[in-house]
Amino acid sequence: MLRPGGDARARFRVRHEPCGAITDVSLPMLHKGWVCQACKLASLTASGWVQGRGSWSLERQEQLMTVAGLRPLSPLLDNALGDQPVNVECTTCGGAQTNSLFGFSEGVRLSWMPCSFCNSQRFKPTAEMVSERFATLGLTLTSAWPGDPTVGLDATCSRCGTQRIVSCLALGSGTPPCLRRDGRRLDPEAPHRVYLFFFPRLGPNGVFKVGITHCVDDRRLAQHTAVGGHLVQVVEVADRATAFAIETTVLRKFQPIAPAPVTPADLPYGGASECWDAFVGHPDLQQWVPRPAVD
Ligand SMILES: [Zn+2]
Ligand SMILES: [Zn+2]
Ligand SMILES: [Zn+2]
Repeated sequence: MLRPGGDARARFRVRHEPCGAITDVSLPMLHKGWVCQACKLASLTASGWVQGRGSWSLERQEQLMTVAGLRPLSPLLDNALGDQPVNVECTTCGGAQTNSLFGFSEGVRLSWMPCSFCNSQRFKPTAEMVSERFATLGLTLTSAWPGDPTVGLDATCSRCGTQRIVSCLALGSGTPPCLRRDGRRLDPEAPHRVYLFFFPRLGPNGVFKVGITHCVDDRRLAQHTAVGGHLVQVVEVADRATAFAIETTVLRKFQPIAPAPVTPADLPYGGASECWDAFVGHPDLQQWVPRPAVD
């Protein structure tokens, strides 16, 4: 709360009730006519405005968040469009704000500081911050930081030792940190899996959740297990598009007849929009896996 005599530039945290977005605002921001960015982006999208094309996988969004120094305040949605608003907190200054995925990646390209608070204070990242973010992505930075996010930097993969030249801009738009280790994780043409989880403690009957992930590691499956999910079935398919088609087919069949009483707060690793009430049962995912053509 603001106190009389307090710092007029101080920020205070508000929740915009119509949309639930959490934002830090200051008195100067309110005087300039503050509008909720989450609501503004949603109304622009509803009016047919398209800025960021293509869809973003969870892995690509998580990498953008790391490169941009942001922490999502609500679960990210898989296959989100570039215009999807994301409510985040800056890991440098703590400021809460909303922008689209496209907007944040443009922030990396233009100034490396997608946070509007850091940006307005002309805050520049230090070499330590940049090498820390590279390290989070499994890269050891060996170049000096030139202060320009578009410049390719020398780095070494800390997992396999492969040398790499990559810019912050490229990492922010979803380029794999290590071509040898991460290529298949981010490559939509690589094999993917469709999985089915049962969460017995959500809703009166439990809920089923369908989801997709790559085949490189089981991190996503472990996250759902850690919050009480039971893995029911996993099938492997040729690529991300096939996996997504199966997920969409399952949701169109089950969600209209059995909507699930699940909110993003129930599933901290995402997927609240991919659930249905367990009383109607679940499909055998295998029945939708395309069979290889036989001559
Ligand atoms: Zn709002
Ligand atoms: Zn910031
Ligand atoms: Zn590597």
